[in-house]
Amino acid sequence: MTIIYKNKNIIMSETNKQQEDYLKKFMTPESEQPEMKKVEKYHDPSTTLEFLSVDLDLLPLGEFYSQGTKIKIRSAKVNEVQNYSVVDDKNLLDVTEKMNQLLSGCVNVTLPSGQKGSYKDIKDGDRLFLIFMIRELTFQKGNSLAKDVDCPYCSAEFSIPFRSTANPEYPKTLENHEMPEGLIKYYNSELKCFEFNINGAIYRLAPPNIGIQEIFYNDIKTKVQNKKTPNISFLKIIPYLLWDRTTITEDGIKAKEDEFKRMDMYTFQIINQVVDKMLFGLKGLKMVCPECGAEVHTDMTFPNGASSLFVVSSIFDEFNKK
Ligand SMILES: [Zn+2]
Repeated sequence: MTIIYKNKNIIMSETNKQQEDYLKKFMTPESEQPEMKKVEKYHDPSTTLEFLSVDLDLLPLGEFYSQGTKIKIRSAKVNEVQNYSVVDDKNLLDVTEKMNQLLSGCVNVTLPSGQKGSYKDIKDGDRLFLIFMIRELTFQKGNSLAKDVDCPYCSAEFSIPFRSTANPEYPKTLENHEMPEGLIKYYNSELKCFEFNINGAIYRLAPPNIGIQEIFYNDIKTKVQNKKTPNISFLKIIPYLLWDRTTITEDGIKAKEDEFKRMDMYTFQIINQVVDKMLFGLKGLKMVCPECGAEVHTDMTFPNGASSLFVVSSIFDEFNKK
C-alpha cells in the first residue's frame, strides 16, 4: 500500500502540469480561457453550470460526427442526480433512459449548420463516456468509483478509478475500442460512415445516434408489453443503416422493415457481419501497475451497478465523523 502511494506521488509531481494542460484542452469555455484554479474551485454542483466544450477527438466515436459539430457539457444539478439515482440497475432499458435524461440537460449540441441539436444527435456509443465526463465535472473534489484488480504480471493488488479525463490524482483510465481493421478501407472520411458497394447497390452504415436508438428501444418495450415478438435481426441492423438520422416515424419503421425483409441473402449476410464488426465505444479500463509498471486492463462492468455513478459512497462516513 505504501509503495502504491509513493509511486503515485512521483507520477503526480512529474505530470501535474501536463494533466492541467490536458484538461484545459477539452474543457475550455469558448468565451474565455479560464484559469485552471477557477474550474477546480467549482466543486459545488450549484455553481458549475457553465457549458464547456468537449474535444470530439476524445470521444470513442469522435470520428463519426460531421465536420463542424460542437458538443458542450456541464455538471449535473442536484435534481438531475436525484432523478438518476433511482435507476434500476438490472434493467438495461431503464439505465439507458436515465442516462439519456441526464444527457438531455447536461449536453448542448450545435449542428454543422449552426442549428441547435440535442442529446439525440450524440452517438449512442458515446453516451457512457460523456456521462463519465459529466460525473467528473460534478464531483471535482473526488468521488472515486474504482475497480479492484490483480496485476497479472506481478500479482500486486490495486484499484483502477473510472476516469474519462485525467486529474491531478489519477490518469485517464477509460479505454476505447479501436477502429476494426477490416473496416478501415470502407470508411468514408467525408461522410463519416462506412460505404459498401454490394452488387452495384451502395450501402452506408455507421454507429447510430441516441435519437434513433431511443425510438427502437421504445419500440421493443411496447412490443414486449403487448406480448408481440420484436424482429430482433431487423432491430439489430437497422439503426446502423439510419446512422445519419435522429428520428423516424412509425410508418418509416414499417417501410424499413419491409425493405429489410426483401433484402437478398448475400446482402443480408454481408451487412449482418459488418454490424457485428462495429464494436465502438468504451472497451474497458487501463492503468499502469504501480508496482511493476506494466499496463493492466480490465472490463467496463461497474462494481455496484450503474446507479453508483452519481452516488458519493463515502459521504455518510465523512458526515458521521464530524
Ligand atoms: Zn504489476
